Amino acid sequence: MTEPFILCEGLVKIYQVADLEMVALQGLNISVERGEIIGVVGASGSGKSTLMNVLGGLDRPTAGRVIVNGKNLLRLPDRELNRYRREEVGFVWQQSTRNLVPYLNAIQNVMLPMMLAGANAKENRSYAAELLRIVGLADRQKHHLPELSGGEQQRVAIAVALANRPSLLLADEPTGEVDSVTAQGIYATFRMLAKELTVTTVIVSHDPTIAHQVDRVVHIRDGMLAAETRRQVRKTPNEETNGDDRIEEAEDEYEELIVLDKAGCMHIPQEYLEQLSFKNHAQIEVTDEGILLRPFTESDAATSTADTESDKVALVAAEPGKVRRLLGRFRRKKSNYLR
Ligand code: ADP
Ligand code: MG
Repeated sequence: MTEPFILCEGLVKIYQVADLEMVALQGLNISVERGEIIGVVGASGSGKSTLMNVLGGLDRPTAGRVIVNGKNLLRLPDRELNRYRREEVGFVWQQSTRNLVPYLNAIQNVMLPMMLAGANAKENRSYAAELLRIVGLADRQKHHLPELSGGEQQRVAIAVALANRPSLLLADEPTGEVDSVTAQGIYATFRMLAKELTVTTVIVSHDPTIAHQVDRVVHIRDGMLAAETRRQVRKTPNEETNGDDRIEEAEDEYEELIVLDKAGCMHIPQEYLEQLSFKNHAQIEVTDEGILLRPFTESDAATSTADTESDKVALVAAEPGKVRRLLGRFRRKKSNYLR
């Protein structure tokens, strides 16, 4: 079996602030295949940017395993980590200006990281023009930043991030400052890049529509991976449709998997707990269909008549033999797949 392109196991990142320890990631597990494009969602402060900084070699993890493209980022000596960051990773930030130099035009911006890396000037120009073409800015090469819209600037920033042919593209809230139509265009660009350049792409987003744009969304909660949403792969009847139409067709079917870690811990979505009045304990039973969880209260214990109250039956895991990180397999409609 080939190794995933990104593998995080028990990833921990603790920031020391004066006397306080801030646990930003507490045992995150995640794996991403080469060329895959995934979304990362989660509340503010849940550790999304920390994960990106660790994956991009900007920050060292405190403990756990992070392997990207065969490199163990926890063990890599400083010099090699710097090289990894320069050569293997492209960053796209929420503010496109963080990637761009205002007094250079679009193509000069894309060429800048190439020049810094010491590549051949003529080749640089043609590859920079190619990248601008790929991101849909073939006719904007000589434009300066003020002459470009927010979405166009973000596309230049994406081309800049790709200048040194990274194998990993990390985008932290890249659509945070553009309107939703522009955001769709930016996501389409990422999808196309992941496919055409086989660049593995991780996009952090606040935007609930991200699930329509990528193959898989991971949900981070309190510095841990809590759930994954995957788009249903369905065959389209019309072969002539382009990628976007295919997504349109599939958009109402998502499968959400909650993640079970090696220690057996999992997050059950808060709404389920509330809906079924789960408190501190649950009764657990292995059945033919899987694992059954029922709310447990002290009064249940007292009366011991906690027979199957069908309206309170909670989650049934699919295929007990195969249960690994897959517990509670359920489908949701498009409108409430993300919370
Ligand atoms: P998100 O991007 O999901 O909003 P972050 O990864 O930025 O979350 O932050 C996760 C937690 O770690 C937060 O509680 C944040 O305050 C803390 N944190 C992030 N970066 C630092 C830092 N450089 N120093 C101290 N604490 C930090
Ligand atoms: Mg953040």
